Amino acid sequence: MEFIDLKAQYAASRELINSRIQAVLDHGQYIMGPEVAELESRLAQYTGARHCITVASGTEALVISLMALGIKPGDEIITTPFSFIATAEAIVLLGATPVFVDIDRATCNLAPHLIEAKITPRTRAIMPVSLYGQPADMDEINAIAARHGLAVIEDAAQSFGATYRGKKSCNLSTIGCTSFFPSKPLGCYGDGGAIFTSDDGLATAMREIRVHGQSRRYVHTRIGVGGRMDTLQCAVVLAKLDRFEWECAERAATAARYNALLSGRVGLVGRAPERSSVYAQYTVVVEERERVQAALHAAGIPTAVHYPVPMHRQPAYAHLAAGESYPVADAMSAMVMSLPMGPYQSAATTREVAVALLKAAGVTPPGSGELAGLLAEDALADTASDAR
Ligand SMILES: *Cc1c(COP(=O)(O)O)cnc(C)c1O
Repeated sequence: MEFIDLKAQYAASRELINSRIQAVLDHGQYIMGPEVAELESRLAQYTGARHCITVASGTEALVISLMALGIKPGDEIITTPFSFIATAEAIVLLGATPVFVDIDRATCNLAPHLIEAKITPRTRAIMPVSLYGQPADMDEINAIAARHGLAVIEDAAQSFGATYRGKKSCNLSTIGCTSFFPSKPLGCYGDGGAIFTSDDGLATAMREIRVHGQSRRYVHTRIGVGGRMDTLQCAVVLAKLDRFEWECAERAATAARYNALLSGRVGLVGRAPERSSVYAQYTVVVEERERVQAALHAAGIPTAVHYPVPMHRQPAYAHLAAGESYPVADAMSAMVMSLPMGPYQSAATTREVAVALLKAAGVTPPGSGELAGLLAEDALADTASDAR
């Protein structure tokens, strides 16, 4: 069993992916070839943001966004301690300071009601993460930012395709950053990422920063980076876009099956109202995680932990949070566990994983008659809408 089945995805889109790659090999414009602009225009249209700037990775997207906002040493950026390290790393790379705010226990996303206490005269931006594919409380976060004159950067590396009150993730704030790392919901076959904004000035700055701060050939009007996404990777994403909406629906269907079998029996990461998740991870909350993980491993079921060590306990970052405590992030990092998930995962596999998890957690799984009822299409439709 695969944790994320990228081979099945390739098999489903093989001809289109191959022909898109072949087209790049034929025209030979490996850097900033026509697929780059084509992808940027399709992704901008998809999200509704005015501008999309493709970049070398999700991490680079965060770095370039902070550079475009003029973030400098001494500035403070409010963010979550419970994310992939790149979120805080981008801030530190610019010499700025990540100021961590604890998370909401139900969703594992940044807790808006704790933000204002951490705002100081040095605060410049808030960087929420749409963790596991579900946007944070963006209206509340945007309202706080507006009151204090701050920018909001959504780290949407896990949530491309998700929605929040009818708008797409990546188009929910000043800037949205996503990643096309192969295992993300929309992945390429190497590194890639994209930045979204509807601010013309920021878009110009980010396009220049991406190419060494160049405004015209060999004229460098600002400090930049070598941060382009290459044409071949853009071609792969273009090929995958055709099935992306279908894949998001299949991810939601897999999640609905898990919800039906697990809800009320083991802890789940909650789905907040008026938003959808693309389930970059389907994550459960279990006590005695090591034992449960070992039992699943013995049954041939791969699992992963996102994330076992929160930022404020990372050796290179702990000094930034000295004297502060993040009890919810600490608690969740000890209990979260992600299950196999993907658009090509069969209902039988999902059921096998869920039953094995319940057994490992010491919960009696539903009997076979009840299982069939829980997995019936009409029962799932209800769970799916709850989950959204
Ligand atoms: C994957 C990820 C990133 C980094 O993306 P890369 O493309 O791997 O650089 C940043 N933030 C979060 C929350 C991520 O999950």
